[in-house]
Amino acid sequence: MESIVDLFIGNIIHCDQPFTVTVIQKGFVAVQRNKIIAVGHSSELQNRFTSENVRKTLLSDSQILIPGLIDTHIHACQYPNIGVGMNKPLLQWLKDHTYPLEKKFKDAQFSKRCYDAVVKKTLSYGTTTAAYFGSIYTDSTLILADSAIRLGQRALVGKVNLTKNGPADYIETSEESLRETRRFINEMSKKNSELVKPIITPRFAVSVTKEDLKALGEMAKEFNLPIQAHMNETIDGIKQLESRPGDVHKNFTHTHEILTEKSLFAHCVHMTKEEIQKLADSGSAIAHCPDSNFNLLSGICDVRAFIEAGVKVGLGTDVSAGCSLSIMNAMRYAITASTALSFSKKGYKPLNYFDAFYLATLGGAKALSMDDKIGNFEVGKEFDALIVDLDVQNGPVDIFGEHTALELFQKFIFTGDDRNVTAVYVAGNKVK
Ligand SMILES: [Zn+2]
Repeated sequence: MESIVDLFIGNIIHCDQPFTVTVIQKGFVAVQRNKIIAVGHSSELQNRFTSENVRKTLLSDSQILIPGLIDTHIHACQYPNIGVGMNKPLLQWLKDHTYPLEKKFKDAQFSKRCYDAVVKKTLSYGTTTAAYFGSIYTDSTLILADSAIRLGQRALVGKVNLTKNGPADYIETSEESLRETRRFINEMSKKNSELVKPIITPRFAVSVTKEDLKALGEMAKEFNLPIQAHMNETIDGIKQLESRPGDVHKNFTHTHEILTEKSLFAHCVHMTKEEIQKLADSGSAIAHCPDSNFNLLSGICDVRAFIEAGVKVGLGTDVSAGCSLSIMNAMRYAITASTALSFSKKGYKPLNYFDAFYLATLGGAKALSMDDKIGNFEVGKEFDALIVDLDVQNGPVDIFGEHTALELFQKFIFTGDDRNVTAVYVAGNKVK
């Protein structure tokens, strides 16, 4: 017997091209197993999918179907601190709040409790894919991967490398860090998950030696893995690098082993034109985390400059420097940050909600080098999607009368929260 075709019928919204939002009013998406097999207007449904193996989901007038949201930068082990230590600069915040918390992840039970909560909560906000930083502990970070696998989220999971400039009781030797990273990759491959994969994760340029960085770049090449790190987040962090003449890697743009077409750098708030060009030339991406950049007083990233240079850009919550697990929140902050920049730059075109939605979906998929699989409703891609309903009981807003699909979409971006995300699908599986 042929496998069931799931037909989602209603208003469909996605970016079928970069920075272009397409609205299909009274449309449909057909899904078989985990993949999208057809997309179109419901008038094209006549004489198609007529067999009894069709299961229909009819969206109401207050609902829209959109692709799953993508968080390109989140520290799962910082979730217990969310909302704490805001308005402290990065280096102070790390010392006072973040490193003391991350040490607790030596404990397997604490890890499981926290990681299950993070994955459940991000899924409930509609994050179908996340690029996670774990801690320096391999076994604990494998627990994070298990949480994502068990709860059905698509994820890249990284064991953090920290061999320099960390606290005395939260640091590794270079030998240990490289050995444990290799063990992490091997243990991840034994899990044989289609959805959850490892990612090489040197924390900052100052937190590993030049030799570690090269070795990690080579390991990424050996296993064909992506790389994630932070780059040029704060002026103080850059000064810290400049004050160490031995650190010729200055920042990641000086270490070509780390600059790959599968590399993703969070923040990039303070970049020279040459550094931006290096990212573009290498095919690397940035994770724009505007909420975090405000909270830690880091500055405002000029996303437009990266887009114009041809750098791939996704959005990140950067929990817990960002104080929300929601990519809807990241979209709003991206618009606000860009608008704030436009006040002091004549002729500057700030990001609008179409741009923000692109960054949260197809842009994020490109940043994670997953746009062959996810990011929009292109035929052949896997079905990662949300049913969004603006008219829910006890929702964040009330609905008075009818709205067009585009108005519902705007309302979701500017006022929505997890209560509006009424169903979440990852690779065709309903996970909320
Ligand atoms: Zn971060």
